[in-house]
Amino acid sequence: MPSEALSKVLNELRIAAQHAGVPEPRLLAVGKTRPASDLAALAADGQTAFGENYVQEALAKQAALTSLPLEWHLIGHLQSNKAREAARHFAWVQTVDRLKLVEALAKHRPPEMPPLNLLIQVNIDDETTKHGCQPSEIPEIAERIGHFQNLKLRGLMAIPAPAPDTETRARAFDAMRALFLDLQNAYAGVDTLSMGMSDDAELAIAHGSTMVRVGRALFGERASQ
Ligand SMILES: *Cc1c(COP(=O)(O)O)cnc(C)c1O
Repeated sequence: MPSEALSKVLNELRIAAQHAGVPEPRLLAVGKTRPASDLAALAADGQTAFGENYVQEALAKQAALTSLPLEWHLIGHLQSNKAREAARHFAWVQTVDRLKLVEALAKHRPPEMPPLNLLIQVNIDDETTKHGCQPSEIPEIAERIGHFQNLKLRGLMAIPAPAPDTETRARAFDAMRALFLDLQNAYAGVDTLSMGMSDDAELAIAHGSTMVRVGRALFGERASQ
């Protein structure tokens, strides 16, 4: 039952925030591989922010759910040739990791829409297989975003490597928090540090996350992909 799972997750986030003495994070419901009807069930219980990994999959669900006032976040790697559709159909893109993508999103975000909210994705564990920029590249990407009226820099996002031990994972989250605080000092309007998923949301909250991205804890296990 999605609604029971939603109240359970919201409750766990609230408790984790209380324990850590931090504000409650936002919950992004990650709907990859789930049908639009699953998302609609959560929306009926008040969830508004949804994350999708693939542009085409998201567009199909958006078309099925147009009557609902949902906020769509792109959280999967974005190829430049999909930037036009991403810029027109999402409220947030969390996976900005290169200057070329900033340019493409700015070119395609329609001026009559509100500015597109952007998070810079950081490859915090320096994994060669993963997307995301290096920490040293954050300043120039942030600066470029600032050139465009139709883009809005909101913060940082990371998918730390699934380390077996808590200390290693906590170190990655702490490194992200430090980068986030630097960015906040440099730019007004930076308010979002997106990190933490079903398995490590509580740890992420204790280490500075303001938005957790949760799939399985809300919708159950995904079929193997
Ligand atoms: C799938 C996914 C999530 C959610 O992961 P769960 O383990 O299902 O909570 C969060 N962030 C990204 C980028 C994802 O791809």
